[in-house]
Amino acid sequence: MRSMFSEKVTDIKGIGKQLETKLAQKNIHSIQDLLFFFPKSYVNKTQLIPIVKCSHAKKCYLEGDVISKNYFFTKGRGIRFVIKDDSGSAEIKFFYYAGTHNKNIAIGHRLRVFGTARQGRNGIEFIHPEYEIVQKTKLLINENNLTPIYPNIKGVGQKTIQKIVRSALELTKGQKFNRTYDHLLSNLPDLASAIREIHFPYIHDSPEETELAFEKNRSRVALDELIAYFLLSYEGKNKNKGIPCSINLQLLDQVKSLLSFQLTHSQDKVLKEILEDLTADRPMNRLLQGDVGCGKTVVAFMAAASIIKDSFQVAIMAPTEILAKQHFEEAKKILSPLNLPVFLMIGSMKVGEKKDTIAAINQAPGSIIIGTHALFQQKMEFKNLGLVIIDEQHRFGVKQRLNLRQKRQDQRLPHQLFMSATPIPRTVAQTLFSDMSISTIEELPHGRKSIDTSVISEDKRANLVESLEKNILENNSQIYWVSPIISESDAIDALAAEEIFNNIKSLLPQQKIALIHGKLASEKKDQIMDQFINNQISILVATTLIEVGVNVPNANCMIIEGVERMGLAQIHQLRGRVGRGDQSSYCILIYKKPISDRVKKRLDIIRSNTSGFVIAEEDFKLRGPGNIFGTQQSGSIEFQVADISEHIHLAHQAKDIANQLKRDNPSVTGEVIDRWYSTNSEYLLA
Ligand code: ADP
Ligand code: MG
Repeated sequence: MRSMFSEKVTDIKGIGKQLETKLAQKNIHSIQDLLFFFPKSYVNKTQLIPIVKCSHAKKCYLEGDVISKNYFFTKGRGIRFVIKDDSGSAEIKFFYYAGTHNKNIAIGHRLRVFGTARQGRNGIEFIHPEYEIVQKTKLLINENNLTPIYPNIKGVGQKTIQKIVRSALELTKGQKFNRTYDHLLSNLPDLASAIREIHFPYIHDSPEETELAFEKNRSRVALDELIAYFLLSYEGKNKNKGIPCSINLQLLDQVKSLLSFQLTHSQDKVLKEILEDLTADRPMNRLLQGDVGCGKTVVAFMAAASIIKDSFQVAIMAPTEILAKQHFEEAKKILSPLNLPVFLMIGSMKVGEKKDTIAAINQAPGSIIIGTHALFQQKMEFKNLGLVIIDEQHRFGVKQRLNLRQKRQDQRLPHQLFMSATPIPRTVAQTLFSDMSISTIEELPHGRKSIDTSVISEDKRANLVESLEKNILENNSQIYWVSPIISESDAIDALAAEEIFNNIKSLLPQQKIALIHGKLASEKKDQIMDQFINNQISILVATTLIEVGVNVPNANCMIIEGVERMGLAQIHQLRGRVGRGDQSSYCILIYKKPISDRVKKRLDIIRSNTSGFVIAEEDFKLRGPGNIFGTQQSGSIEFQVADISEHIHLAHQAKDIANQLKRDNPSVTGEVIDRWYSTNSEYLLA
């Protein structure tokens, strides 16, 4: 009998052609794929919370009577409702489809609302929450389970995902996965039932029990994920032949002589390590790590330059378009004087422009192509791809990392260099990246000023602004002002940025202030970045979109809001945007009260340490086990279920099991890999 797991999702009632296509965006094709699409968090929808208990940034499930509604005007027409329960009232706001919501919701309706609360001007508010209109006496559903929140799938609502996952679980009830390695385990729940529990965790009598049961099931699933990861990284290892390149030392000397600085000792050292790999017969698989600002980019350019005269192409990939463009400009500056062709290829380019660029790249055998991940999605054939460089690799998940291992027509594998400023704790590197060589830049270029970091609470913002004007803006320096991350929603985060922008503008009316966030059109973003680079803007209010890579040496002050909710690695990344010029630099971390002792400790780590490596190690130590309602993944590498800071012991076990399977039972390894990485055969290229 064919197992139900491998049947197509369309076997599930309610999934038609349209939904099938939408799920395919996330590589969900079979029922098994759907079951291996895991929630990123959970809410308890078995209990409503009183409105008075809804606090800023908290996910809330509440209910109230609609007592007023009215339109308001922002850029378009919005609509606002006030709902009230016995404890208090809250506003519900919609910026889009105001007419529709006006039609659907009337005064006197009882509204059940689910969303992330925000502290607005008039108290707690919810922006575009999920809602339903209910009878006053309607009971709550989902009596026994937490409700899963899944990663977004474009065009598919949470309720739909929850429904189809439920159906998939229903359809596969009682079925088990083949026992591929279970004989190597003892005392762990069965995988199929663990998966069931990860989707809809059972609520036990006490929260502790619920958490404990959940963790047990999560560990079981995490173990499977890690085993798949190891099996996958063994797959094809040593099978692919590499491309030994010869190094053009003369050209490298020319590049060096054109630089406005001397490479640091560390940069020289890592460059040598990379060049050595490039000449080898085996494909390079190397991670170049080094703190923000240590100068990884120039090393990457030199590695690229060293082989392109031999008519190899080199692809350099950045996580954002802003960064890709910056790299492009930088590369042109260094390499164009030597007539080395450099191209930019990004998603937002016009269709015609893309076509022309692809054609030009086709005609340019020895060249450097810089882009975002769109680069690899384009229908683009590289000509003799010799080296792929991936900047800020910590931003890519495991799947992407593996997916990027591009193949060439001759089945040889290009060399690969990953760059990251988020150091990987040694224990993690040894376990997860043992297939990778690591180069580390240990020093910053000479003459870097240290960054004076302070931590203040939000109510000191006005004082801060005053001193900024006196001490920083008077010297013609520039400031980044980063707004907090509130929810997964771009719209809500953009709104928060806008509020901060308005606030600062009113406090500093004479200053040139601009706002940049993910909702802006690409041209608009470019225009603002250009103005900032040219010092036509003094204060740039931004969402964390500027987190990685951006380089504007005249900016010497970084202000970050909402640090209580941010990871230390991310704060450190942001801080690294300043301290790049010759002036003293400042970083001011603003938190919203109240904060816990643990958060205080974390902020103290970042305040008193300047090395990203130390910060990462300390942060890693401080992290306790995750929490069912807020698992925040910790940097370096992203798994769907496993969290490496909690599951490092599982990683060791997984590695052992993977080794044993590979040795004793290689015919079943494919099955384990397929569960996690089935739908894209390109993963298997390394
Ligand atoms: P990161 O390692 O964070 O990517 P970048 O490559 O962006 O850092 O480098 C930061 C800045 O330092 C750039 O302006 C770069 O030109 C400069 N830089 C790189 N290497 C040196 C060096 N050896 N001496 C002085 N400045 C350098
Ligand atoms: Mg960089």
